[in-house]
Amino acid sequence: MWQSGDLSDSSSLELYADDPALARFVDVVRAWWPDVARDLPWRASRDPWEVLVSEVMAQQTQVDRVIPKWEAFLERFPTVLSAAEASAGELIELWDGLGYNRRALNLHRCAQVVVAHHGGEFPKTLAELLALPGIGPYTARAVMAFAFEDDVAVVDTNVGRVLARLRNETLLPKTAQTLADGLVPPGAGWEWNQAILDFGASVCTKRSPGCSACPARSVCGWAGVGADPAVGSAGVSTKQSTFVGSDREARGELVRRLRAESVAVADVAKVFGFVDDPERVERVLKSLLRDGMVVDNDGMLALP
Ligand code: SF4
Repeated sequence: MWQSGDLSDSSSLELYADDPALARFVDVVRAWWPDVARDLPWRASRDPWEVLVSEVMAQQTQVDRVIPKWEAFLERFPTVLSAAEASAGELIELWDGLGYNRRALNLHRCAQVVVAHHGGEFPKTLAELLALPGIGPYTARAVMAFAFEDDVAVVDTNVGRVLARLRNETLLPKTAQTLADGLVPPGAGWEWNQAILDFGASVCTKRSPGCSACPARSVCGWAGVGADPAVGSAGVSTKQSTFVGSDREARGELVRRLRAESVAVADVAKVFGFVDDPERVERVLKSLLRDGMVVDNDGMLALP
């Protein structure tokens, strides 16, 4: 996912401000959305902790898999304080099945900073949110838009794809953010961001965009003709490296085992699945220890 802390580019904003096609796009998507809006449980919440957990979980995990995990996680950690007071290992345990365990660790660190430095209340400015551990430009704006209902735009892979196709150009990060910010109807930041996310997820999809029946076809610069401008555009995720046989798989396997029991350092090569490669074993184990995903208690590994 594209990550940049830059704010919008005001000169580009002027470029888009009077574009009637963009204004029409906003009207079309807003009219399309209410009947097809995805029923996601976190959309009923304006609690920044609940919103943050949903956003962190939904990065890199499919939404239908996130829903039961989000509910279970918030049952155990209903407040940022409850998460901050728990051990990181308890959050990692509940992350089972979501993958990318580092996200649980980052959530724990974020909760601790919110409690220690903000009195348990989430800060409200972009700069303060970006300063929290594990929070990047997308997540910071998502908390602002979906918890505080601010008029800021989120640019994830869905939105980035839609914007590039709409303009029929591969966008730089600043331009994409500026364009996205300029589309937000005043006072409707929450609704607009949900609508364009759903539009990207269900109409302007990555592999088979529904251009022939798309309500925005008449204002779309690309409309499925020629090379897809979304490839390589800001915010649009790129192909992930192969998981099977990777260090990431080995890291995940050790964490999975540690959810059930501690593991002796001497046995870690077997858990990783590469007993004949001690250098690799050492490298992967060191990375887990350095990240704080795993702790070494006198030769026995455990979750933190
Ligand atoms: S016409 Fe096709 S490319 Fe353009 S917004 Fe609609 S689905 Fe996306």
